[in-house]
Amino acid sequence: MNEIASNTAYPMFLSPLKIGSTTLRNRAVMGSMHTVLEHLDDSTERLAAYYCERARGEVGLIVTGGYAPNKAAYIGPGGPIMASSEDASAARPITQAVHEAGGTILLQALHPGRYAKHEGAVGASEIRSAINPITPRRLTSDEVWQTVADFARCAGLAKDAGFDGIELMGSEGYLINQFLARRTNDRDDEWGGSPENRMRLAVEVVRRVREKVGDAFIIMYRLSAIDLVEDGQTGEEIIELAKLVEQAGADIINSGIGWHEARIPTIANMVPRGAWRFATARVKQAVSIPVMAANRINTPELAEEILAAGEADLISLARPMLADPEFVAKARRRRSAIAPCIGCNQACLDNIFTGSICTCMVNPRACHETDLVVTPARQVKKIAVVGAGPAGLALAAQAAERGHRVVLYEAANEIGGQLSMAKIVPGKEDFYDLLRYYDDRIKEASVEFRLGTLADAREVAGGGFDEVFLATGVTPYIPEIEGIDHPMVLSYLDVLSLRKPVGDRVAIIGAGGIGFDVAEFLSAEVPDKGKETEYFLNEWGVDTGPSIPGGLSPDGFKIAPSRRRITLLQRKTTRPGRSLGLSTGWVLRALLDHRGVNFITGAAYARIDDAGLHFVAGEEQRMLEVDNVIICAGQQPKRGLHDELSEMGVMTTLLGGAEKAAELDAVRAIDQGTRLALAL
Ligand code: NAP
Ligand code: SF4
Repeated sequence: MNEIASNTAYPMFLSPLKIGSTTLRNRAVMGSMHTVLEHLDDSTERLAAYYCERARGEVGLIVTGGYAPNKAAYIGPGGPIMASSEDASAARPITQAVHEAGGTILLQALHPGRYAKHEGAVGASEIRSAINPITPRRLTSDEVWQTVADFARCAGLAKDAGFDGIELMGSEGYLINQFLARRTNDRDDEWGGSPENRMRLAVEVVRRVREKVGDAFIIMYRLSAIDLVEDGQTGEEIIELAKLVEQAGADIINSGIGWHEARIPTIANMVPRGAWRFATARVKQAVSIPVMAANRINTPELAEEILAAGEADLISLARPMLADPEFVAKARRRRSAIAPCIGCNQACLDNIFTGSICTCMVNPRACHETDLVVTPARQVKKIAVVGAGPAGLALAAQAAERGHRVVLYEAANEIGGQLSMAKIVPGKEDFYDLLRYYDDRIKEASVEFRLGTLADAREVAGGGFDEVFLATGVTPYIPEIEGIDHPMVLSYLDVLSLRKPVGDRVAIIGAGGIGFDVAEFLSAEVPDKGKETEYFLNEWGVDTGPSIPGGLSPDGFKIAPSRRRITLLQRKTTRPGRSLGLSTGWVLRALLDHRGVNFITGAAYARIDDAGLHFVAGEEQRMLEVDNVIICAGQQPKRGLHDELSEMGVMTTLLGGAEKAAELDAVRAIDQGTRLALAL
């Protein structure tokens, strides 16, 4: 064991690993993520800064977002490509920056095949994916060979650009994966039919890349460790492929989990941490090269546990590296708290899917390294921050870290505001870690903290503050419905924060983010501690045996029906849950559907009385006999202190929900708090 690792609680995670002639300084790998920075005019500068910050944070290996090896492999119209010497020259500043910061970086070569969103899309067949309206053109046999050559050219150019190696994307349902599975490969030539023929593309790509780049260049192959789609590969086929990929010259096998079109969540917050390690462990047993575990591994403790159990040799941290570029350095120092990736996808994947720049809820500086720069305060100010919800916490912590003197008032006896409420919802337990992180951060930055203190206007006005920030949050909006004061009516705060008892028959008014959260809270069964993964895999019909195509249980989903009769209502006639995140909303909808939660749209609420909730839907007068009506109809800002201070002539800045309650989420709140602190 090396010197660094012997002093740590994470001896395996922090120990180096020799790959050919390269020694990785530890087992942490920044997994590949497209960021949308790739499409900007100043992409090179911004990507260099983004990767460089992670290299300085001591991550062992970085993998870029996907580069197309040829034009058919563009993921959309345009994007990153590595197909010419000009492309290689353009990427050189990125590799230089990473190397200067002591890092090691691989370029990922990705051919999306039928997932490409442009008219030149190609595939193993003409079978279209349900998640892409474009029908791919079937590649001829010669074109497949040309594609192999294009991957090899891409690797050679990556080497010219100074990359230390290449990751060949063979999972998530992209082109190579499409050739591997019967689901998408109906060919009867040398590239289809038998497992050997279906594996030929993957194996030839690795073989030809190795021929092109020689030995001193890392080849990592991203293998679909479980496809999670019908007619996907069996576990046995996957193991056979892993062996062939090793023989063909790969140095490392990375694990991909599920195709993008899989209807099973693979990385969202409701997936238990480390849920897919079994699939990686199966591959690891079959090969002698290092194997990497991925998906929902977001703490050094879990990384160490997986490595120590011999289930993997490396750990992929993609989103956790957005959340905290210093993940590894902090794990080594064991002083500062690591900003946790909470699996929300709200600022990373949901942004990417809508073409916005990827960032992170808990770290708004992610992918904004060049425009959100942290500098020491030029002139130290005394600052009051009222409210320790996400906006106030982010502002207080960041301002104090810059050297300002910060006093933080919070009326409640715990920090968190709306985050404290979210942590109660099943699948959102990671919010506990987020709160612990902020707690550590404000303590470490010596924020003067007045917990359980309702800020008094006179005290704030006379406190000698240079700036006063009011992050006083929101209160539930209570709509004017006849009978709204009936004892059966509860607000979402009553349910989630005050834990008031809720009956078996429930109507929820408002099918937005919080309405869904309340429905989830009231309908989910909570598995026994330690049994979360088993429960999750069973619920979503995942078969962990080696022989079932795609790893899908023939019995399908086993999501238990809710023991409560729950109806979720909204006034709009659009599909409920449209405001939910793109990458997580479908999971919540599927869970509630399977549990038998009823949705009513186009509701006009008439009154609430002893009989229940009366409303009109369509032309029909209806009544739901319920024990409770729960109001989740949005929020309104809490501005009492603001008004008092204004009357006293004190200038304040409102932020978070206190500034704008509509469509407030933690992403906006933390971003706003961070930006205000950096501008001080
Ligand atoms: P929201 O998502 O805006 O939903 C408010 C709901 O209340 C809507 O369904 C709306 O539907 C209904 N409503 C609005 N005015 C009403 C009125 N006068 N009478 C009756 N119903 C009314 O707000 P939220 O649920 O409070 O969530 C707050 C924020 O947190 C949102 O930005 C949300 O996206 C975010 N959040 C997201 C998640 C998630 O993505 N999982 C979870 C929690 C919170 P109608 O107008 O059609 O009736
Ligand atoms: Fe993780 Fe959410 Fe940040 Fe994405 S936005 S990296 S899921 S914390």
